[in-house]
Amino acid sequence: MQLLDGKFASEKIKTEIAEEAAEFLAQSGRKPHLVAILVGNDGGSETYVASKMKNCEKVGFQSSLVRYDNSVTEAELLAKIEEINKDAGVDGLIVQLPLPKHIDPEKVTETIDYRKDVDGFHPVNLGRMMRNLPCFIPATPYGILLMLKAYNIDTTGKHCVVVGRSNIVGSPMSILMARNANPGNCTVTLTHSKTHNLKEMVLQGDIVVAAIGRKNFVTADMVKSGAIIIDVGINRETSSETKSGFKLYGDVDFENVAPKASWITPVPGGVGLMTIAGLLKNTLASAKREIYS
Ligand code: NDP
Repeated sequence: MQLLDGKFASEKIKTEIAEEAAEFLAQSGRKPHLVAILVGNDGGSETYVASKMKNCEKVGFQSSLVRYDNSVTEAELLAKIEEINKDAGVDGLIVQLPLPKHIDPEKVTETIDYRKDVDGFHPVNLGRMMRNLPCFIPATPYGILLMLKAYNIDTTGKHCVVVGRSNIVGSPMSILMARNANPGNCTVTLTHSKTHNLKEMVLQGDIVVAAIGRKNFVTADMVKSGAIIIDVGINRETSSETKSGFKLYGDVDFENVAPKASWITPVPGGVGLMTIAGLLKNTLASAKREIYS
């Protein structure tokens, strides 16, 4: 078993990004700028946003955080998004999910200017991704592609089984792995909670992408020997063992699956770090007008 180390791969990518950001600053007189909107006080969301902001500073980007409490109205939030859309000094805008129930996440996603949608959730970006056109690829699937690339893993002709069909992870991942590209060129099976014989499906995977949101869901008896295992899950549990008061678990039973796998991502230290690398790459591409002029 070999580890797909998100720290190693993301640090390498961030060094390249920092060099390009410095060049961009020298040429344009400004830093690439990412704005994040955070609504409420969800512990997980706080941690993710703080980490995104910290990583922006590390690579020489400007970052701004706009905070609202849970009582913010949908209209107020949409008006703020419109305002940021118009701000020429902002390259990327993300709204951390989940949002309170009274705010429609679809409206929020569609209100973000697709040219600043560095999370890659806007229908224009998803549509362009379907057609293999330049676009912002959703940050987590993008991060997984970057991870496979960093380790020179040839995915051509392999059977990729994706577990989970969310709009932000599982569904775009299935499309990207089937594209005529490398990483890609896979035969893909997309599974979800209504899938019959899930275990038999996952057992067929040369590559398994687990994006379910359930601790240790993928067990050793579900994976074939030599499979490449990508664990997207981040499941937080309170713990007295850690300083932070919680512990993170993946969707894969790492301890028992790892000995069977050829490659496997750890949690933490795997896909989460690559997601940030994907987000930073999208933000830099936006600043440099590499995708939309
Ligand atoms: P969602 O809850 O949006 O989607 C979960 C998917 O898993 C759904 O498609 C659901 O099926 C499927 N599922 C649930 N239960 C089962 C089951 N028993 N058998 C088969 N499929 C099942 O989650 P996300 O995609 O947003 O996130 C998944 C995980 O990844 C979470 O732990 C999340 O925290 C983590 N995550 C990590 C990121 C990172 O940077 N590492 C980024 C984003 C998410 P159905 O559609 O039928 O309901």
